[in-house]
Amino acid sequence: MFQSNNFLIILISPSAGGKSVIAKQVLKKCENIEYSISITTRKPRGNEINGKAYFFVSEEEFQKRISDGDFLEYALVHGKLYGTSKSFIEKILSSQKHAILDIDVQGVKQIIASGVDAITIFILPPSAAILKERLLKRGTDSKEKIEERLQDGIKEIDEVNNFDYLVINDDLNDAVDEVINIIKIEEKRICRYKNIKQTFYGGELVK
Ligand code: 5GP
Repeated sequence: MFQSNNFLIILISPSAGGKSVIAKQVLKKCENIEYSISITTRKPRGNEINGKAYFFVSEEEFQKRISDGDFLEYALVHGKLYGTSKSFIEKILSSQKHAILDIDVQGVKQIIASGVDAITIFILPPSAAILKERLLKRGTDSKEKIEERLQDGIKEIDEVNNFDYLVINDDLNDAVDEVINIIKIEEKRICRYKNIKQTFYGGELVK
């Protein structure tokens, strides 16, 4: 009824902290949220389809998009370029939906600095020991890679005070519910409602 503004939802977590799984569950449960598909120069893995997990482009294409000012943010992550497309985000917001982003901390900082309406939620496993255990369990990385990801994760934890909310990912379902509750509360902020009086008074008796 009262037209509200939509916003960006950014989940941040160390590798294996659970942000991708949580984002998928939130998307399943909330019809008014859409996933921001990033653009990357990394090659597709396994059966990843272009335009689903990512838009896969060449280094030249990515550089052209940088000079055309196409990115809301972009960063070099593990040696490859990743970026969020301005027009993709605009499309989501103009369809009256929120955009959920799965991006690294460098990108998050750029978005915060840009002043775009965004909420940031830091997802943290209950302890460093549990984070390490989850990284080992994934079994997809070598010992060196796991150590590298742990160190990167520690750097991200150093940044925790820059974000709006903290969700401890002990139980996945609880963590998903907490993220959804945060989004619902954010939707209720007065600053996100336009024309409250006009809508209430039917546009005639505006006080
Ligand atoms: P992966 O290649 O494993 O899917 O992602 C590697 C890392 O890149 C993850 O931390 C992911 O959050 C990050 N990432 C994915 N898309 C973007 C993006 O558009 N911008 C930034 N800055 N990071 C991204």
